[in-house]
Amino acid sequence: MTSGDKFCTGCGARLAIREHEGRNRPVCPQCGRVVYYDPKLAAACVIERNGQTLMVRRAVQTGYGLWSMPGGYVDRGEPVEIAAAREVVEETGLLVEIDQLIGLFSDAGNPVVVAAYAAMEVGGVLAPGPESLDVGFFEIDDLPPLAFPRDEQILRRWQRIQSGLR
Ligand SMILES: [Zn+2]
Repeated sequence: MTSGDKFCTGCGARLAIREHEGRNRPVCPQCGRVVYYDPKLAAACVIERNGQTLMVRRAVQTGYGLWSMPGGYVDRGEPVEIAAAREVVEETGLLVEIDQLIGLFSDAGNPVVVAAYAAMEVGGVLAPGPESLDVGFFEIDDLPPLAFPRDEQILRRWQRIQSGLR
């Protein structure tokens, strides 16, 4: 739980962790409210140039200095494809058009679900944004140190889709 989740939003009592329907969840001992956490949706893009894929060196705390595919969290009410393209231009300066969905990627115990898209460059100028230390294109077989191991899984699936293997 984060500090904002310590108190019941219904009655203000301090939450306790109790087993509820077979899982440990925050429960209000006073009014009985059970807190359910939703997954968090992120969108990421695979953008290729001359057979290489665009990566961003992160200037933000999770994985600072490591590399990830361009992407970030989807705002509530924001179309996922719009969020994906917005993150690309914010982080890399490139304008992209979203092509196909590569897949949804989720792991047990990880609150973040990633929607990964293939996208095509349609304009802009490649330059690191305020949350990026560097940007560049890399061979999928020779990626820089990754912030999220899932990125490699996404890129491998994209390779399989392109080669018709799925
Ligand atoms: Zn309560």
